Amino acid sequence: MRLTGLTVRALEELLDSRTRALAAAKWIYGPRAWSQELPTTVPGVAAAAWQTLRTRCTVTEVRIADQATASDGTIKFLIAVEGGAVESVMIPTARRSTICVSSQIGCTRSCVFCATATLGFGRNLRADEIVAQFLIARATAPAHSPAKNVVFMGMGEPMDNLDEVLTAVEILTQSPAPQLGQTQVTVSTSGVLPGMKRFLAEARCSLALSLNGSTDAQRLALMPQTKTWPIEALLGLLRDDRARHPNRVHFIEYVMFDGINDTDADAARVVELLRGVNARLNLIPHNAIAGSPLRASPRERIEGFHRVAAAGGLRTMIRWPRGQDIAAACGQLAQIRSGL
Ligand code: SAH
Repeated sequence: MRLTGLTVRALEELLDSRTRALAAAKWIYGPRAWSQELPTTVPGVAAAAWQTLRTRCTVTEVRIADQATASDGTIKFLIAVEGGAVESVMIPTARRSTICVSSQIGCTRSCVFCATATLGFGRNLRADEIVAQFLIARATAPAHSPAKNVVFMGMGEPMDNLDEVLTAVEILTQSPAPQLGQTQVTVSTSGVLPGMKRFLAEARCSLALSLNGSTDAQRLALMPQTKTWPIEALLGLLRDDRARHPNRVHFIEYVMFDGINDTDADAARVVELLRGVNARLNLIPHNAIAGSPLRASPRERIEGFHRVAAAGGLRTMIRWPRGQDIAAACGQLAQIRSGL
């Protein structure tokens, strides 16, 4: 058992008491500096019980191998884990910071526009390693902008590591700590249908689907798995979810590629596709990756697409990139190439 992978439920079993479990969770996940030293006593937990926990649990073998700060304050971490390294990002805004975590070393999917795909697949991360990334990055958030949001948009496909991702989500959103809001945690998927079904049934947080094309042909050229799970199957699932969870919002990510998926006709098709989905559309200019001819759509085109989508009644935001000068923006998380 690893310390940062313990839910309050698991702690309760270990410590044989709900009160002690809550006190232990408060210490493990509370806002302290990240440290792998286990103290001999913790407030509110009987010494003997804490000792049991210390002997039964090991700390997560993670450490910051390197870090870089971008001119906009975004910090990228290279986190060494057993058997490899992953990246996490702390993205500050005026009042709150967002932490972006990885769920796998490398990735199981082969999206042609993503730098992580070029690394191949290493292994799935455990829940404790995912939560540790959050704790490490949270400790660097500016005082005026505490880390309140977590997005699973780093390396990896969360639906291909769902057990661990669901445990990590349970920990992040549990009381008394870290106590993130359920709508403040978002898991992003390239569209793995069986995983999405289970996620929608079990997860208490938000889902983001990377749509990235307005037709199957377009999407297939960018995301080969479209052959197995076409757009309509993915969106059908989100439409059905509305009956069960009328208030749950689904984020739709749409990376914009120059001359590929960025016309007004594409925008109009996306509006049609998303009818009946409780959707918020996020437009993401593509971040160029080494060796790829793909380019971002020009600013005016992204704004034009935005106008058509908004006029069609879709709630749409443009996500201008953050941390670009340190290769921390979407799709650029490939530690070997980035030269951190
Ligand atoms: N595998 C998951 C999560 C990681 S990718 C997924 O696909 O959703 C997180 C987001 O970054 C996705 O929306 C993806 O489409 C986007 N992305 C990947 N590479 C990108 C790039 N080079 N430029 C801009 N966005 C990119």
